[in-house]
Amino acid sequence: MELPKEFKACVEFHGHSCPGLAYGYIVVKEAMRLLDLKRSHDEEVVAICENDSCAVDAFQVLLGTTIGKGNLIIKDYGKNAYTILDRSSKRMYRFSRTHFYNYTGKNKEEFQLLERALSAGKASSEQKRRQKLLKTKDLIKKPFDEVFSTRAKQFTKPPYAPIALSKPCSKCGEMTMATKLVFAKGQAELCIPCSGTNGS
Ligand SMILES: [Zn+2]
Ligand SMILES: [Zn+2]
Repeated sequence: MELPKEFKACVEFHGHSCPGLAYGYIVVKEAMRLLDLKRSHDEEVVAICENDSCAVDAFQVLLGTTIGKGNLIIKDYGKNAYTILDRSSKRMYRFSRTHFYNYTGKNKEEFQLLERALSAGKASSEQKRRQKLLKTKDLIKKPFDEVFSTRAKQFTKPPYAPIALSKPCSKCGEMTMATKLVFAKGQAELCIPCSGTNGS
């Protein structure tokens, strides 16, 4: 099986092919199908990813939801779960996984051997690479609902990315988004590193 062209585009951006990227890819494809989406040039589509793993890069490449535009929101809960919403149609879906991964491809025996070597900590780098490739291909080929559960959700408006004026920090003088300046040490407006706090 050849990997799909759009997946290859994700690999080019991400730097390597991996199952994490495949999870993101299949969610993006399903969301685009359900919501009838094209790549987002503005902020009309928003993705909320509940992890900061490799999967996130498939959203940036194919869906056009990016960190820079502010329409890719990372909630680092360590969960393989994603919410995609479309402002124009006011629709929103959440995709999440509720069961363990199970290989169902053609190389079942080989995959089991590789898994065993991996869990025993004895897999060679070639075996690790092969296991990742088999899993990636399997994820892309599987019926989507064998991997993720899909739920239509009540649409809630996400905030637009904040646009704020910049002001110089009163200690280092570097221009800083005004909303990120903090009051500390006798009420001077300081940038977060100068304030010596974590900003909260
Ligand atoms: Zn990766
Ligand atoms: Zn400063």
